Amino acid sequence: MEKTDILSLSLDELEKILVENGEKKFRAKQIFQWLHVRRVFEFDKMTDISVQLRERLNGIFCINRLFVQKRLESSIDNTVKYLYRLSDGNFVETVLMKYSYGYSICVSTQVGCKMGCKFCASAIAGFVRNLSPSEILMQIYETEKNTDVRVSGVVMMGIGEPLDNYDNVLKFLGLISDINGNNFSLRHVSLSTCGIVPRIYDLAALKLGLTLSVSLHCADDSGRSEIMPVNRTYNIEKLLEACKFYIDKTGRRVTFEYAVIDNVNSSDKDADRLAVLLRGMNCHVNLIPVNKIRERNYRTARAGVAEFAKRLGRRGINATVRRTLGSDIEAACGQLRRDAAEKSNMNGGADF
Ligand code: SAH
Repeated sequence: MEKTDILSLSLDELEKILVENGEKKFRAKQIFQWLHVRRVFEFDKMTDISVQLRERLNGIFCINRLFVQKRLESSIDNTVKYLYRLSDGNFVETVLMKYSYGYSICVSTQVGCKMGCKFCASAIAGFVRNLSPSEILMQIYETEKNTDVRVSGVVMMGIGEPLDNYDNVLKFLGLISDINGNNFSLRHVSLSTCGIVPRIYDLAALKLGLTLSVSLHCADDSGRSEIMPVNRTYNIEKLLEACKFYIDKTGRRVTFEYAVIDNVNSSDKDADRLAVLLRGMNCHVNLIPVNKIRERNYRTARAGVAEFAKRLGRRGINATVRRTLGSDIEAACGQLRRDAAEKSNMNGGADF
């Protein structure tokens, strides 16, 4: 029988399995705390549990660790990027960023991505599978262990489309915020989506308190469909309607991500269109100089971003230019995994 991935289980689910196996319910909380508070990932080290029970736990459950395949430290800032190998040999990327207020971590939610955004390295490497709740969670726990820090912010902006792995992402959010475990406030979590509209409505209804970031990148349908194929299914009108619903329902401001790309979406007309689109919305625009990827010739003139921000500002739209961190270590999501996957011929597991 295949062992159950214990780190993907909620406390309720763990209780249920233990009771079904003839154990006392209170053991679940004890084990949950060993895992999520003390971060002990071997049953044999859970010292207040009897040796017999530890043996039984080893028979029923597995604790899926992530292995550091590669670690890159920026020499410009304190950004550290991990390429983690999963138990099946696939790779994901996790980035730890240092800000004045503390550490923020960027996690992946899928191995690869189906969304096909033209500027994104994750899309180019293709889609393999969803990450389990524990594989998302362990990017945080392993990175905190490896670097001896506690993160104060989590952004779901790594490889993958979180709303295309909705159930596991929700379970992950439940796990990191469980008051009996890690107890992390979802107010310090941002979820970034390319715009899977039905799931934005679902998420709004849950009122989780997290920040929704929407990768907009273009204010007209034909241009957006060109660089983001998801727009052909959920166009800008439908997307903004869903965002307005999210704002109304949760009372939270939505962030729009906009990677400014020369000759694609950076003209005065583009800025004007964006301003008209977002007028009166409780939102914020995050302008990003596009990260260069090998396969495309996209670039951003630094002055272009500042000019774009000014133009939006004059039209009453609040915009900031995102600081690029780790530019010397290929911090644009998906680049490391793509290289690793290419080297191992997409099978994963091989050294590089
Ligand atoms: N799938 C989700 C989250 C992953 S991408 C989403 O689309 O939002 C995280 C952010 O990085 C998104 O805003 C994405 O559009 C942006 N991004 C991807 N590749 C980029 C690049 N080369 N330069 C700048 N931003 C990029």
